[in-house]
Amino acid sequence: MSWGLRIYSCINLYLNSRSLYVTLNYMITLPKLDYKYEDLEPYVDKQTMELHHSKHHQGYVDKLNAALTGSGWEDKSLEEILKNLDKFPESIRTAVKNNGGGVFNHNLFFESLGPKRMDLLGKIQEGVEKNFGSVDSFKEEFGKAALGQFGSGWAWLMSEQGKLKILTTGNQDVPLMGKPILNLDVWEHAYYLKYQNRRAEYIEAWWQVVNWQKVGEKLLAV
Ligand code: MN
Repeated sequence: MSWGLRIYSCINLYLNSRSLYVTLNYMITLPKLDYKYEDLEPYVDKQTMELHHSKHHQGYVDKLNAALTGSGWEDKSLEEILKNLDKFPESIRTAVKNNGGGVFNHNLFFESLGPKRMDLLGKIQEGVEKNFGSVDSFKEEFGKAALGQFGSGWAWLMSEQGKLKILTTGNQDVPLMGKPILNLDVWEHAYYLKYQNRRAEYIEAWWQVVNWQKVGEKLLAV
């Protein structure tokens, strides 16, 4: 091996170990999806899914980790970070809030989707019928909330003290009261490529790819 090659290998080894160290140091990573980008077609198109997960969601993860660097919070869980925003210095608080919220919201959003057409079942069906009268009136109320969210934001199904509630948040804000069971992203990046300005059509299509099994597990874990 020539000296040039040896030095090159050493530098490479050093850089690889550095990036491994940096990767292991962060708690916050992009969760893998348990379905493929194309699996939600025709309701949510492959290109939207790919951009949404590999660029937008990844972007929130990267920006959160960048904001956390040097803060002493690098090895803390996302839940812990979001619960303690008031403890962050002002210089990074907004970045941590926005990007931490972005990660949390998209984690729940993507894990609640799946390619298998499903109806509500078990406890989640019981809960929805008890709190909203019927599955149809729940979907109507949730859809209205999602449609009515002005600008970028989210619609949520929350569990709070044994009751199910619908609410909306703006930007990447995370609801502070209760436990999130299901959420719908109504930022334009979630639907514009396929549905353009037709948010109502996107909401209708999204019901077809909700994984009610997963949503039910969230409810049981409350
Ligand atoms: Mn999004």
